[in-house]
Amino acid sequence: MSRADLHMHSTVSDGGYDVPALIKKCAEAGLTVISLTDHDSTDGVETAEKMAEFYGIKLISGIELSTRFHGQSVDILGYGIDICHPFLQEKLQFHRGKRIDRMQKMINLCQETGLEVTFEEVEKEVTGVTFSRPHLANVLIKKDYGTTVQDIFNKYIGYGKPCYVHKEDEMSPEEAMEIIHLSGGVAVAAHPVYYDIDEHLTSWLKEKKLDGVEVYHRDHDEKNRKRFNKLVSEAEKSTGIKFFRTGGTDFHHESYGRSGEIIGGALLPYEEAVFLQTYLSSR
Ligand SMILES: [Zn+2]
Repeated sequence: MSRADLHMHSTVSDGGYDVPALIKKCAEAGLTVISLTDHDSTDGVETAEKMAEFYGIKLISGIELSTRFHGQSVDILGYGIDICHPFLQEKLQFHRGKRIDRMQKMINLCQETGLEVTFEEVEKEVTGVTFSRPHLANVLIKKDYGTTVQDIFNKYIGYGKPCYVHKEDEMSPEEAMEIIHLSGGVAVAAHPVYYDIDEHLTSWLKEKKLDGVEVYHRDHDEKNRKRFNKLVSEAEKSTGIKFFRTGGTDFHHESYGRSGEIIGGALLPYEEAVFLQTYLSSR
């Protein structure tokens, strides 16, 4: 049976495998349609394309943009984007700079809390271009301040914990959708179960700002898959547009503390992945 996984991360952002190793894992898992969706960077896409071709896998260029909406983090996936688009790259660079500022502030708080960690140590953990909290967590684990990334998040750097710092000047979901559209991609709301913005998702679909919803994310149980399928179906009925229903495991690494991170383990119907892939390649 052919399988697809349209949501995964490499060491370009906060994943645990570099791009060649990740694509090899996809091949071993029998995946035939995939997308690399690193946070706020497309730096892995070119290598991913080459590796995917080598293994006979269809790769959709992807990204996961971090945004803020009514005080919460909302991620927007972009599929089929032109990774060389100057406007896209300019925006990405600006937001990566913001991530570095935030990391420096979190490191300062760690030091004030008595944890011995420096910016240089965290920088060494960053294999790609995006600074993320798991990089800081890895340094803290090495220094025995915790056992797993999740443990470090729970104690120090998770939301509301002593060394947590809010991201500043984040883009709005609508800005992210616009950037994705300008760079030729389709915009999909990532793992909507993490937020409570169903009404907004519906509006964005109807306003043609959003092109789809990640109905089949690893963390969506049957109830939520039905919930978001229904949401998309209703928007389809009222607009006459066929939207995308995507899905994936949001794979980072087997040992990243979240249970059940198995590449290709999401329940995305293969025909939904093919629908997206065919749409993007037929333009
Ligand atoms: Zn993700």
